[in-house]
Amino acid sequence: MNVISCNCGSVSFEIKAQPSDIYVCHCSICQRFSGAGGMPVVILKNDDFNWLSGQEHIKVWRKPDADWEANFCSICGSALPGMNDPDRMFVPAGILPPDIEGLEIKHHIFVGSKACWDEIAGAGKQHDGPFTG
Ligand SMILES: [Zn+2]
Ligand SMILES: [Zn+2]
Repeated sequence: MNVISCNCGSVSFEIKAQPSDIYVCHCSICQRFSGAGGMPVVILKNDDFNWLSGQEHIKVWRKPDADWEANFCSICGSALPGMNDPDRMFVPAGILPPDIEGLEIKHHIFVGSKACWDEIAGAGKQHDGPFTG
């Protein structure tokens, strides 16, 4: 797969698996992080993910008392992949190439916290809270 990078190009990575499922989180933290109604991510095994450059430019914000972190480029602010689980990388869907075949929204989570103006469309399954499998 091609080299994927942030807006300024300082941070880049590659993925070695074909992602298919997008999860969109509509919680209040993801609303602020994305500046939008929800944060779409794909989840990859660590083995399928590789940083290529610019890791020194990554800023991490950890939510106090929680297992949650936001990673972003300290130069351009692009949302970057992060590890919210020790075995898996959470990759913002918007940083991926726009033409990955078969990639679609499968689940909306924390729909119970969504903004009133956030209208969810499509066939993705809606969950009030976290994804429970
Ligand atoms: Zn950048
Ligand atoms: Zn969230």
